[in-house]
Amino acid sequence: MPPVNDVLQAPELAAYRRVLDTPFGSRLLAEVMNATRHELASGSGVIPRADLTARIAEALAQRLSAALQPSLRRVINASGVVLHTNLGRAPLPDSAIDHLREVSTGYSNLEFGLDDGVRGKRDLHIERLLRQLLDCEAAIVVNNNAAAVLLVLNTLGEGGEVIASRGEQVEIGGSFRIPEVMAKSNARLREVGATNRTRIKDYEKAIDANTRLLLRVHPSNFRMTGFTERPTLDEFVALGRRKNIPTFEDLGSGSMLDLKPMGISDEPVVSDSVRAGVDVICFSGDKLLGGPQAGIIAGKKLYVEKIRQNPLFRALRVDKLTISVLESVLLSYLTGTLDEIPIWRMLRASEGELKQRAESLAKRIGRAALVLQLTSLVGGGSAPETYLPSWGVALKIDGLSDAELEKRLRHSEPPVIVRIEEGRVVLDLRTISADDEDELIAVLR
Ligand SMILES: *Cc1c(COP(=O)(O)O)cnc(C)c1O
Repeated sequence: MPPVNDVLQAPELAAYRRVLDTPFGSRLLAEVMNATRHELASGSGVIPRADLTARIAEALAQRLSAALQPSLRRVINASGVVLHTNLGRAPLPDSAIDHLREVSTGYSNLEFGLDDGVRGKRDLHIERLLRQLLDCEAAIVVNNNAAAVLLVLNTLGEGGEVIASRGEQVEIGGSFRIPEVMAKSNARLREVGATNRTRIKDYEKAIDANTRLLLRVHPSNFRMTGFTERPTLDEFVALGRRKNIPTFEDLGSGSMLDLKPMGISDEPVVSDSVRAGVDVICFSGDKLLGGPQAGIIAGKKLYVEKIRQNPLFRALRVDKLTISVLESVLLSYLTGTLDEIPIWRMLRASEGELKQRAESLAKRIGRAALVLQLTSLVGGGSAPETYLPSWGVALKIDGLSDAELEKRLRHSEPPVIVRIEEGRVVLDLRTISADDEDELIAVLR
């Protein structure tokens, strides 16, 4: 074996001198030396020492290079799923990242009133905007919508019963289930109605001295069709008022706008629930809002204040990074500059525009590309039945199977995530940002 010092002086390791001085670097060095020693012991023949030194240095450089690359990396999403949960849901606006950099690389007034010099609350930055956008009385922000549901149920339902429809006991991806969150919140679930039909009378009959809360959940990722029934929002609110029991709605995707013009007809609009008079509503920050992962709780001041007082809130609150990005995204809504928000650019892209981009991309790729019509998905548990008409490019490369091509694209730099449709590798232009096209071409070449 060559002396350790010879290995450390090898030119292959010139870029890693600093790392090799750390305990992590020493450990990797020892591992590679040991592995080589074992190899030599079980092999035969003679290797010149200089060659062995170079071999060890090269193996170590490779290990270091792989280990020092961030594991969380940018990818090109060519899948056509706009809110792809496994690919990080909503891409964030540049303006939001500018704001994040500005307020987070130094100090900020996160919990400090600049007017009076007194300690403030971090949620006020967001509440101010949500009150304008939703016309609600109060709002707070937690880590995600799952946390929001847990916190509301625990604050308003603990020790008592929460009435909810049997048809709304949903499971959202990643093992969030309404009945299980309910159990963890220490509220008892009182299921009413049948799987397909629940009437307002079913809720009313279940109300007794133990009832703390009436719950309504947007079914998000599934749809019931056929012989179905669900009380209207107005009936739900009226019952709560009449019986003096607070109402709570988990809206899931939380769209700030009516999506019908984009062909998405069954996603509720947050302000509709506020206007109808629901006492507390919650929704995600990184679904149809197009912002960072967060759970937003909005509604009547009386209840939002109670929720804020819950010690669990301290455990579920968000940091300045989330607040700065969320504030900037909400400001884009307030100023009506929706095109700053990437998911709105993607959702609103017209078929004609996507077709044109697919044609020009195919021309640049050449013989391997075929332009074709596609359907994109909203994703993120939203609008499961909606297929947005889109255009893309199918790839065929001689001597490469679709599975092999998909894998090679996934292993490129940056990785390109495609979908395989009818035995073809397909790139959907809806989720490929125009800024990514040059890089995509380079990867394909
Ligand atoms: C997505 C969703 C959740 C969970 O939201 P996260 O932000 O992913 O934690 C909860 N309830 C409903 C109805 C949802 O659609």
